[in-house]
Amino acid sequence: MPVPFFTLDRQIPKMQKEIEKSLQAVIQSGKFILGPNVAALEEEIAAYCGTRFSVGVASGTDALHLALRAAGVKAGDEVITSPFTFVATIEVICYIGAKVVFADIDPETFNLSFQKIAEKITPKTKAILPVHLYGQMCDMEKIMALAKKHNLVVIEDACQAIGAKMNNKKAGSFGEAGGFSFFPTKNLGAFGDGGIISTNSEEIANACKVLRGHGSQQTYMYEAIGYNSRLDEMQAALLRIRLKHLDTWHKQRQENAHFYCQKLKDVEEIKLPKILPGAEHIYNQFTLRTKTRDALKKFLAEKQIGSMVYYPLSLHLHPAYQFLGYKKGDFPESESAQSEVLSLPIFPELTKKEIKEVCSGIKTFFSKK
Ligand SMILES: *Cc1c(COP(=O)(O)O)cnc(C)c1O
Repeated sequence: MPVPFFTLDRQIPKMQKEIEKSLQAVIQSGKFILGPNVAALEEEIAAYCGTRFSVGVASGTDALHLALRAAGVKAGDEVITSPFTFVATIEVICYIGAKVVFADIDPETFNLSFQKIAEKITPKTKAILPVHLYGQMCDMEKIMALAKKHNLVVIEDACQAIGAKMNNKKAGSFGEAGGFSFFPTKNLGAFGDGGIISTNSEEIANACKVLRGHGSQQTYMYEAIGYNSRLDEMQAALLRIRLKHLDTWHKQRQENAHFYCQKLKDVEEIKLPKILPGAEHIYNQFTLRTKTRDALKKFLAEKQIGSMVYYPLSLHLHPAYQFLGYKKGDFPESESAQSEVLSLPIFPELTKKEIKEVCSGIKTFFSKK
């Protein structure tokens, strides 16, 4: 039985009518940019994240970029982040002309190690950009204490972690700001690109609003060199409908994860995801690790079972980032994770039967070895 890695086919039809009605209303309104749906979504997301403000932008990448700029990160500043993440995390640092400083990850959560961050702080460090990878938050309380001690800005890459919690506090509400992505495969996805910034700072919220609209607050008056980075009304209208289901989808993903863990707990060759005390994981990905990752992935693919590798090469080893001056061996945990991680299907509508199929595939693979 084939099992898709990810599909929206089982979700969209259930809300098709509601979506069509809402998009039709946007079409009829003739207001496509920064209208009532974006404003309402911004309020709803701020309430959802437990922050005072949120600012809709064109993508998760832009959310991080604008948040860094609005928080005062400038060319030449050092920004500490993870080499084991999606490339956008470091692109945004480079856009500003700031310096990417990598710290290695914790091998159990794949998130930035607090100790490794501490070792990388210099007088030039301006910010920490922790990434809540796969949907589990970094150890934010420790990171915030460290930032406070050294007077650093913290911008959370929460693109995979909308709704994730640490001690009941949501992703994007710890640092000066958080960036979220509405890319279709994220837990809250749009029908295209989109993103949003969360913040408790009125100053950062206003600065992000100015930057997303060409550096202008008052029409045709420019106070900064800005961008065209707005979330549009069609996406916002759709996202408002989908947001109502988000917690249910998180719960379904968590149940799927729990079922995988039950079924796979006796397979010695794999390490299951580790949840930090106090953390609520929203499983944008369910990622295990195994020494025979490539062979397992191939075996599952032959059975038409989808799986993915996030991410196959640490960012410090890519051609575009050689200028940063790192080399192989600099981040051993990240480099070992790149050859051992495998993400399994986890989307909310996945059935128990499908999970059993994936697990029996994995068990067959290891019993043959
Ligand atoms: C998806 C993602 C981004 C970028 O989001 P886009 O909306 O695709 O620009 C940034 N960081 C991480 C960790 C992501 O997963």
